Amino acid sequence: MSEPILQVKNLKVYYYVEAGAVKAVDDVTFDLDDGTKMGLVGESGSGKSTMAQALMRMIKPPGKIEGGEMILDGVDLVKLSTEQMRQTKLRKLAMIPQGAMNALNPVMRIDHQLVDGMLDHGVTLSKQEREERVARLLEMVDLAPKVAKMYPHELSGGMQQRVTVAQSISMEPDLIIADEPTSALDVVIQRQVMETINNLQERLGLSLILIGHDMGLMAQTVSRLAVMYAGRMMEIGATYDMFRDPLHPYTQLLISSLPVLANKGVFAGIPGITPSLLNPPEGCVFHTRCPKAWDLCSQSTPKFTEAQPGRWVACHLHTA
Ligand code: ATP
Ligand code: SF4
Repeated sequence: MSEPILQVKNLKVYYYVEAGAVKAVDDVTFDLDDGTKMGLVGESGSGKSTMAQALMRMIKPPGKIEGGEMILDGVDLVKLSTEQMRQTKLRKLAMIPQGAMNALNPVMRIDHQLVDGMLDHGVTLSKQEREERVARLLEMVDLAPKVAKMYPHELSGGMQQRVTVAQSISMEPDLIIADEPTSALDVVIQRQVMETINNLQERLGLSLILIGHDMGLMAQTVSRLAVMYAGRMMEIGATYDMFRDPLHPYTQLLISSLPVLANKGVFAGIPGITPSLLNPPEGCVFHTRCPKAWDLCSQSTPKFTEAQPGRWVACHLHTA
């Protein structure tokens, strides 16, 4: 079995607002094996984007990484200086952003934007090498060579997103984090861009963390699925097993709330209100909505434990 490329241990990311600390990521632990595609799902506000931004060390005040480790290929990203982290981005990990239009420079041609990251990392390229690199990157994301000489506004949303995908792989990182990369696109284009990301992942042997709400897309795309709720990790396992036999009551509700047709679709949410992350409930954060809760659940926080090989759950029902 392959070694984990990423180990996140007891990660805590809080936002300090006037009313107190918003515990957006609270004591999250998981491993990601090399070359694996993992989906990260959860209702709005569960901490998915904060998790992604923490991995990229992009958390800005009032946010702060309060504790824990994020070990990528043996290096704890939490401990890196700003300069070391700048060197690590693109070389080791990269992000495909949510909105391509905001991520691209409107007044810079695509070819320049594609090599910009490489130049920033001190890679020296002759004119011919630059052209070859750009052509190869465009080909890899299924864009025509003529796109090199175009500006972002001349491209459709799907094409712009492909450019951000090309940027993310420009230095062949080990890990790509894609935060709802296709949510702004229409469904057909979404599928096509996802197919490109999928093909690249296989071709380059990348590890991928895909953040999203679309369980159907997850079922088709990722081999492992991680479920967050109120800043905490509830369950992680092989996607097939999670759909077939969800162990955590929250995952069970998520999956049973999907349209019945092969349990695919965007989850509509489940009854009840997500708790405040300023004052999360004592014990299990899900106890206020859990149909299976009992006395212990409001008194003690369940440990995130390996209930079955490769299957991690935070629920007293599955604590040995
Ligand atoms: P969505 O699916 O809507 O993108 P998410 O699961 O990605 O949601 P986050 O955006 O990570 O969730 O937010 C987690 C929590 O942190 C939320 O309660 C949110 O209000 C809070 N939060 C996020 N950014 C900030 C900020 N800059 N200042 C204060 N609170 C914040
Ligand atoms: Fe429900 Fe209790 Fe399990 Fe939490 S620990 S998910 S409240 S049964």
